[in-house]
Amino acid sequence: MRTTLKGLLAGSFLAVLAGTSGAAAAEVNLYTTREPGLIQPLLDAFTKATDIKVNTIFLKDGLAERVASEGDKSPADILMTVDAGNLVDLVEKGLTQSVDSAVLTRTIPSSLRDEKGNWFALSLRARALYAAKDVDLREITYERLADPVWKGKICIRSGQHPYNVALIGSYIAHHGEEAAEKWLEGLKANLARKAGGGDRDVARDIMGGLCDIGVANSYYVGLMRSGKGGPEQQEWANAIRMILPTFENGGTQVNITGAAVARHAPNRAEAVKLLEYLVSDDAQKIYAEANFEYPVNAGATVAPLIAEYGALKPDTVDLVKGVGFRKKASELAEKVGFDN
Ligand code: FE
Repeated sequence: MRTTLKGLLAGSFLAVLAGTSGAAAAEVNLYTTREPGLIQPLLDAFTKATDIKVNTIFLKDGLAERVASEGDKSPADILMTVDAGNLVDLVEKGLTQSVDSAVLTRTIPSSLRDEKGNWFALSLRARALYAAKDVDLREITYERLADPVWKGKICIRSGQHPYNVALIGSYIAHHGEEAAEKWLEGLKANLARKAGGGDRDVARDIMGGLCDIGVANSYYVGLMRSGKGGPEQQEWANAIRMILPTFENGGTQVNITGAAVARHAPNRAEAVKLLEYLVSDDAQKIYAEANFEYPVNAGATVAPLIAEYGALKPDTVDLVKGVGFRKKASELAEKVGFDN
């Protein structure tokens, strides 16, 4: 009996080995909300360099809910998403784990990763201003968007969108809640149209003469101008210029895209390897050129089309500090009726 049992165990052990060696290639499972077209070239390059296969599940939304519902059986190794708030949410929901990687720590500035290694930024985007080419910007800052000289001249998307929630959160971090509320009221009073639509619509509406300036993310200018968004959007982008405003006592408000290793990652080592690859000089360059974002790796270059708008000076207020105010920011937008 004992030998039989031993034989059975040995047999199943061999079967397991055969199962893995038959696949030969190691794998890593990526859950992401990023557009497939943006990251596929990077994943292909990673597989080519390491022989690690990447299985990708693209989710338009509901990333956290999906991983949470899969529980400890979740095949997810890496969770990749946009917006610092979303990354912090993943941590707060217990869906991530801490990673200690010398490569990640060395390459990514400390302000752009979780101090416990629960998430890492992979690229940066600026909350920029689009403006009609003939508009005098009078040394505009985020603060001055509330100045009545801009009455009826500003376009912006919903105050509840994560991009604006992050901006308002940073404003609170700089000036406090009361000042932020006044600022939001002022900005709301300056709107040319109801807050809504997308960032690219700001360029469209400036071209259409509806507004003079508007708040929108930096990379959309690259996506539109390059023709990746089609000929119509190219026209919109050609009708505007982009500037990188700053806070009066700081820099340009930035947000991130980033990734975390999932709490129950079955392929943890491969997951860390993929993250390390994504911040390498080569990958950062591909990334920056594909999506017109700013690299987190100082050694990688900004896409020429975006570099034209000048060097980015990221705000001095800690990204995480702004994120800490996201709930308050959303409440303020509600309170002043920003979207009404
Ligand atoms: Fe976007």
